[in-house]
Amino acid sequence: MKLKCTVCHKYVIEKTRSFEVSDFFYYVYCGNCFNFFLYPFPRNVKKIYKDEYFVNPCPKNFLIDKLFRLHLYLPYDKLVQKFIKKENAKILDYGCGDSTFLAKMKALGWEVYGYDISLSAKKLFKRNIGDTNNYYSDLERLGIVNVNNLDCVTMWHVLEHLTNPKKDIKVIYKVLKRKAKLFIEVPNANSLLFIIFGKYYNWLRVPQHTIYWTSDGVKKFLRSCGFKKIDIYYPFKANLNFSFSILNKYNRKFLFYISIPLSLVISFVLTKFGKGEVIRVVAEK
Ligand SMILES: [Zn+2]
Repeated sequence: MKLKCTVCHKYVIEKTRSFEVSDFFYYVYCGNCFNFFLYPFPRNVKKIYKDEYFVNPCPKNFLIDKLFRLHLYLPYDKLVQKFIKKENAKILDYGCGDSTFLAKMKALGWEVYGYDISLSAKKLFKRNIGDTNNYYSDLERLGIVNVNNLDCVTMWHVLEHLTNPKKDIKVIYKVLKRKAKLFIEVPNANSLLFIIFGKYYNWLRVPQHTIYWTSDGVKKFLRSCGFKKIDIYYPFKANLNFSFSILNKYNRKFLFYISIPLSLVISFVLTKFGKGEVIRVVAEK
């Protein structure tokens, strides 16, 4: 059977690394664009999300939840400021969720724009930002109103959820000014833990994650959308994915807790070799 890739829209020419993640779903590797896509494709994508999908991604107990949120990395606001020094710069957070990131950027003096398809995201944008003048839930309108308008677009863990990423990224390219920047963060499909744990991998979200990206895959894809300078980074993040995957596989809490130090070491080493949990991309128009 021929399968069409969600990213490059070509028929799959290599299936060697594809794997089963449930009784029903597979991630199929596309040898043309180097990414994995979900098959079969969910029929009604909006139905698979609770409206506040972004609010609590970790429905475990309190201590585990605390550990999940243990941030050992540079927060997004600091990261963006490292690359963009301009005053009153305009930033769009694509998939802005609860708008906490944008609220921080606004407090720093940035002009903030939000895009999200969730109804509660709009309410939270209004609560955090004050009005919804710069809020969009319609991709086409976002593109028409903001041609060459923005200094920066951020997509924090959004690209792996898209159903036709080319369509979204083409609009994002259009709304950016020349030499403006796009920041992306996604789970790493070359993560060794993803490969080893398969269906027990902690960052597996089926069917919400429609695509798992590799660094070569995301680079090739952005180049095909017009971006010129594309830099890839591997931040030291999601350091407990090993312990969480162990918990998923064996369902024993003590194994989770005693494996935490090992999980941190594993994450540190894998990150150094580009086999860690996260890919971060900074691309220039
Ligand atoms: Zn492809």
